[in-house]
Amino acid sequence: MMVTRRDALRLLIAPVGIAAAAGIAPAAPQTRKLKVLVAGGHPDDPESGCGGTIARHADAGHEVLVLYLTRGEAGIPGTAHEAAARIRTAEAERACAILGAAPRFAGQVDGDTRLDNAAYAAMRELLARERPDAIYTQWPVDTHRDHRTMSVLIYDAWLRTGRSAALGYFEVLTGDQTQLFRPTDYVDITAVARRKRDAVFAHASQKPDEWYPAHERMSRFRGMERGVEHAEAFVRHDRGPALPLPA
Ligand SMILES: [Zn+2]
Repeated sequence: MMVTRRDALRLLIAPVGIAAAAGIAPAAPQTRKLKVLVAGGHPDDPESGCGGTIARHADAGHEVLVLYLTRGEAGIPGTAHEAAARIRTAEAERACAILGAAPRFAGQVDGDTRLDNAAYAAMRELLARERPDAIYTQWPVDTHRDHRTMSVLIYDAWLRTGRSAALGYFEVLTGDQTQLFRPTDYVDITAVARRKRDAVFAHASQKPDEWYPAHERMSRFRGMERGVEHAEAFVRHDRGPALPLPA
């Protein structure tokens, strides 16, 4: 029997269940408990971008911290910042509970995020303190300034803490927000797709029924690319350790 390169790749990736892109070796199976940091601009970004992967990491016994740059202060029209922050903090806490993660807040303000020396220093200190094994953050080419801010702060902190964590980027509302995103790695989230949806819908103030269908189309499309029903996709930074994506 002739074994094509595609067959060989399929055999290679099958044991760990990770659909690595062609030509890229899969991540090694994990046995040690990891600390995973998932960083987004607003409450609902980490959940919609990689909520399935968060759930799978948590279910595998790893510690997952979800870091929100802001509390979504400007995200409820007609509601004052302080009240909106309270509502959206509670929604984020509920979403994290559904996924098995712990929320953290980086203290910036929605719609007024800063990319300056103080912000760089604060993020560097946070990474140095938390020492995650893996970081997932927003892709930097994104139409929303707060998403770009978080992505660049994480990238800078990752460089300045010795690139010791694996670094991967996730996508949100691709085409509308995330742009020019070409995945290197995928995670099958079929078994946790319902939980991801529930976590996103914990953000009721954001009217997810209006935009979550776009994310479901994305996860079905990424799933089609890898031959599963629903998948999340990542771009891995190749100057750090391999992404310890769920096996
Ligand atoms: Zn956002």
